Amino acid sequence: MGLSFLQHAYMNEVLAYSPGAASLFGVVAPNSGNQKILVKYGTPEQHEKWLQPLTNGTMQSGFSMTEPDNPGSDPRSITTRAELDGDEWVINGHKWFTSNGYAADFYIVMCRTADADGSGAANDKMTQIIVPKDTPGVNIVRGVPVWGRSSSHCEIIYDNVRVPKENQLGRTGTGHQAAQDRLGAGRVYHCMNSIGSMWRAFDLMIERLMTREVHGGEKLESKQFMQGFIAESYIDIQSARLMTIDCAEKMESGADPRADISAIKIFVPAAYHRVVDRAIQVWGAAGVSGDLPLASMYQGARTLRLADGPDEVHKILIAKLVLRRYHAGEAWDFGN
Ligand SMILES: Cc1cc2nc3c(=O)[nH]c(=O)nc-3n(C[C@H](O)[C@H](O)[C@H](O)COP(=O)(O)OP(=O)(O)OC[C@H]3O[C@@H](n4cnc5c(N)ncnc54)[C@H](O)[C@@H]3O)c2cc1C
Repeated sequence: MGLSFLQHAYMNEVLAYSPGAASLFGVVAPNSGNQKILVKYGTPEQHEKWLQPLTNGTMQSGFSMTEPDNPGSDPRSITTRAELDGDEWVINGHKWFTSNGYAADFYIVMCRTADADGSGAANDKMTQIIVPKDTPGVNIVRGVPVWGRSSSHCEIIYDNVRVPKENQLGRTGTGHQAAQDRLGAGRVYHCMNSIGSMWRAFDLMIERLMTREVHGGEKLESKQFMQGFIAESYIDIQSARLMTIDCAEKMESGADPRADISAIKIFVPAAYHRVVDRAIQVWGAAGVSGDLPLASMYQGARTLRLADGPDEVHKILIAKLVLRRYHAGEAWDFGN
């Protein structure tokens, strides 16, 4: 698209203000994250075959990493296996929560290509492989219901699925790093999406506060409980936004953004949740109805605390990074 990382992040914020806009403009997960992997790890042939149609919107994709029988919070635990047989990868495994699973033309499947207990680092034992959805042996079991409704987050069994060797992305063993690259940028984009949505929820809340009359004709905006909501939501949005932009600037400048990515991954969905919760409260019954986007925002905010790595895992990472510095006799520099 020719946008810098930061410009892309701002674009996410603007698009998220209107539900559906990101998907209209083709910059929605999981396609956006898959584009990131394809740009970095794909060959010119793969760019032509998969990346270009994905960016043109003529193809859809899914990212198939999480498994029902292993903790998604530790992707190194996956057991979906890919073995080389001549010039083909043969894939066997069980995945779920492959978003966009029904609409996708192809999946990027994270596979184990070396034994967990074999020699070599645990992070070098996975490979990302492109699997067209119509390949024999790709069995979509179901869309896993989410929040009580059917969904396109698919459970998929890969049963002796054969794809050409050239469908692998990057060198054998780079799959874990590719997943991290994908998720790192994706987390910033998702946070900017959340901020755009929070902004919308804030505007909706204020609109209602300025128009709804209660007990004796006074506007809600005159009530101090409600004024507290305005101030708390302002603080939540402003801090989430500044943290995320700071993180995006670090990513763009090449500074180490790891602690910041984890910090926004924890803080922003929780702030989003609080902001939408207040807006729902102000709107009363209408807030949980399907007439406003607030109810689905609320569910989305809650889900974000699990997806892209649960909060706890990110807290552990921040603590590790901080402690490592202090153990080395340095201190954390919040100014840089
Ligand atoms: C709507 C939605 C869409 C998704 N889309 C995709 C997708 O497109 N592709 C894909 O591959 N996956 C997808 N996922 C899966 C998601 O990435 C995983 O759910 C997530 O990584 C957590 O894995 P898990 O569900 O196996 O939880 P687990 O790893 O079993 O963790 C469960 C809980 O245990 C706690 N926990 C875990 N580790 C620790 C620890 N070390 N210390 C303390 N507590 C801990 C946390 O509270 C965590 O929430 C999606 C999930 C959702 C909900």
